[in-house]
Amino acid sequence: MDPNILHNIGYGMYIAASHKGDVLNGQIVNTVFQITSEPVTIAVSINKKNLTHEFIESSSCFSLSILLEDTPLSFIGRFGFKSGREGNKFKGIKFERLASGCPVVSDYSIGYLEAKVVNKVDCGTHTLFIGEMTDSKILKTGRPMTYDYYHQVKRGTTPKTAPTFIKGEEGTAAKDARMKKYRCTVCNYIYDPAIGDPDRGIQPDTAFEGLPEGWVCPVCGADKSQFTKEP
Ligand code: FE
Repeated sequence: MDPNILHNIGYGMYIAASHKGDVLNGQIVNTVFQITSEPVTIAVSINKKNLTHEFIESSSCFSLSILLEDTPLSFIGRFGFKSGREGNKFKGIKFERLASGCPVVSDYSIGYLEAKVVNKVDCGTHTLFIGEMTDSKILKTGRPMTYDYYHQVKRGTTPKTAPTFIKGEEGTAAKDARMKKYRCTVCNYIYDPAIGDPDRGIQPDTAFEGLPEGWVCPVCGADKSQFTKEP
């Protein structure tokens, strides 16, 4: 078997969110798809360890915000590499709450849909929630971010709790003989000097050693001391 075949399955990038009373939580998901059109049903796979899983179980509803290609890594990191158990991920960002109580983000979102859970499948580490669409809205025009774009262009990585995590995966940046890459030991983000950190004005061809002192991991916010040189 060659697990690399799995990199060729196409996905998008979304924030799945739900609530437990007044407490909100959301997370990055790529495993979202429409199942039927009459009525519209949508499936999403969520890790049982995640707080969003607990909230969807409790509220029986979820929302999906569809992310734009130009979503910064820091925004994805806020929802993808941090747990809602450690802090409110919606604090300090623009969002609205739908009729179901589920929140949707207002920035970097093409639009959203809301669904009521009508079925679920126990898949071991994950639950596949199947929901009937109860609301939807387009907020902006733009290109939706694909999972491939996130990896290839944004140089994003995948947390171990994601359904599509592949062991040994650590970014796909091409080798650069002149300047070394550095890997974040917290989230596995790889700083590639050939790319820089364009979201924060770091030009391509900036060595890791040349990054400003206050520079932090664009995905998880770890400081430079938590990076190790790639072999
Ligand atoms: Fe990081």
